[in-house]
Amino acid sequence: MTTDCVFCKIAKGELKADLVYEDSQVVAFRDLNPQAPVHILIIPRKHIQSLDALWDQDANIVGRIATVARDIARKLGISEDGYRLVNNCGEQAGQTVLHLHFHLLGGRNLGWPPG
Ligand code: AMP
Ligand code: ZN
Repeated sequence: MTTDCVFCKIAKGELKADLVYEDSQVVAFRDLNPQAPVHILIIPRKHIQSLDALWDQDANIVGRIATVARDIARKLGISEDGYRLVNNCGEQAGQTVLHLHFHLLGGRNLGWPPG
């Protein structure tokens, strides 16, 4: 845990968020500034700064995030039309919160390539 990390605070319940899922490894909540009708952030409880900072021994968390994303997409009714699971890693990719997170986006046509 990094004391000033916003997503660590959400994971610990110290900062309010609109949670859609949580378990011992992963927390998912609605993005404050949604870019699509469905925009969920899925994070590991463990503070990992970015995908680039992920150690091999923690790689299973990414698989867990993928299965949680699949289940949330089904629950929120976007799995049939399709959705996107995105990670922004580092400055040029637009990462602004330095705690590993994946964006689950759906509910509209999503352009490609992303900006
Ligand atoms: P990124 O640019 O990939 O680092 O994404 C960070 C995301 O976190 C942005 O989409 C923000 O809108 C979102 N965000 C930042 N603070 C919060 C918060 N307290 N609760 C929910 N979403 C947040
Ligand atoms: Zn953190």
